[in-house]
Amino acid sequence: MSVPSLSHYINGERVSAKAEHASENPSDTRDIVARFPDGRASEVDAAVAAARKAFPAWAESSPEVRSDFLDRIGNIILERREQLGRLLSREEGKTLPEGIGEVARAGRIFKYFAGEALRRHGQNLASTRPGVDASTTREAVGVFGLITPWNFPIAIPAWKSAPALAFGNTVVLKPADPTPATAAALADIIYEVGVPPGVFNMVFGGAAVGEAIVKHPGVDGISFTGSQATGAKVGMGAMARQARVQLEMGGKNPLVVLDDADLDRAVMCALDGSFFATGQRCTASSRLIVTNGIHDKFVEALAAKAAALKVGDALETGSQVGPLVNQVQMEKTLSYLEIAGKEGGRLLTGGKQLKLDKPGWYVSPAVIADTSQDMRVNREEIFGPVASTVRVKNYEEALQIANSGEFGLSAGIVTTSLKYARHFQHNIRAGMVMVNLPTAGVDYHVPFGGTRRSSYGAREQGFAAVEFYTQVKTAYVWG
Ligand code: NAD
Repeated sequence: MSVPSLSHYINGERVSAKAEHASENPSDTRDIVARFPDGRASEVDAAVAAARKAFPAWAESSPEVRSDFLDRIGNIILERREQLGRLLSREEGKTLPEGIGEVARAGRIFKYFAGEALRRHGQNLASTRPGVDASTTREAVGVFGLITPWNFPIAIPAWKSAPALAFGNTVVLKPADPTPATAAALADIIYEVGVPPGVFNMVFGGAAVGEAIVKHPGVDGISFTGSQATGAKVGMGAMARQARVQLEMGGKNPLVVLDDADLDRAVMCALDGSFFATGQRCTASSRLIVTNGIHDKFVEALAAKAAALKVGDALETGSQVGPLVNQVQMEKTLSYLEIAGKEGGRLLTGGKQLKLDKPGWYVSPAVIADTSQDMRVNREEIFGPVASTVRVKNYEEALQIANSGEFGLSAGIVTTSLKYARHFQHNIRAGMVMVNLPTAGVDYHVPFGGTRRSSYGAREQGFAAVEFYTQVKTAYVWG
């Protein structure tokens, strides 16, 4: 099978450049998914210029026009969910059902924002001055730079570009370098429906392309999802020139299990949250904080279930956990298992590189018991199939530990006590709280984001997206 060479999308045209990089299938590294170029500053300039030129007409177009485009994009994504899901799983490594599920979600996001494009946001306010009307309207901002990670290679570009376009902005997307082919498939669909040239542009590349977008004076706002370290740089770069900025970053999400929990439900929540999508979700449960009375039963049952998970090629039927996305992520995961061992953690199961019948970045799901909050495995994001357990005496201690650390994205509790569930909902320092549900797995029509160093700026997704992708104008009229 010939390997496709991907092109940037600038001003409605595919712009070819030397394809210096390869995107590999992490389930079988002999399989090259695509070759792709590294963008240059001149290509970022051209993409921003095209987006600026397209902005006035797109912003002034009828919301029905934008709504129809988004609806058509959503429908095509949904129709092609199997094919796109296969591409996504082949390139990123999540299992095929997970890949198809993510594609379907991206399609639904476009259809949701097709509706939102029609909603008028504004208020009529009583002026304090007789004879004067005061009102607010929301306007498009301009050109948005969208910088995305590899772990949701279609859903995250969708949840940034759909609201940006719905509210009349134009965009320059820089997808993550491990997953360019999935982003290219989305760009193809956006142009297939006839979106005007320059409305949506995409430039491949790594940090240098991201930096060029962040610094570019023609870019009015930056929406970034990725690691905390990169987010800090993006935030500083955007603030230096007063561009609006939104950062969605890492997590170290706690799942609290109380003595009164339904054991099966607690194990299901931990298994799903910690290991599905190979633990490569910003909302993954990585700290399992368990009260004494249920601790031993829970840890034993979880280790048995984790050991029984089938790790394999993302595209093979029956695989429950795919590979890590690349060698760097695999080595990072294995290095944390070593660190945990040195710090006194007890590895109950997994944590080994698996040699299957093909070369890939496979690691068996790991459960590490007897850890404490001061250990690095409980403070730093690993982003792999690793869960550590912390034994606590009661709910109060569980809450205090859950609230420790610098991240605050998602947090969960498994309990049959309304009193503790409600207290946790109100007192956990996280942007999203789950009761008797895994910490990962969110709806697309409600706000998404965290507290502390997990997020910065306005919330993403659902009705919250209007905050970031529009600006308010206040009008006073006398006459
Ligand atoms: P990353 O920070 O390495 O890269 C993210 C994006 O930023 C990529 O497109 C990358 O090329 C680009 N980039 C790198 N350096 C840059 C720079 N100096 N300036 C501008 N852009 C730059 O993250 P990753 O490894 O792709 O993704 C994994 C991370 O993403 C994890 O930390 C995970 O928690 C986080 N994540 C967060 C959310 C969320 O919504 N909170 C969702 C998914 C993933």
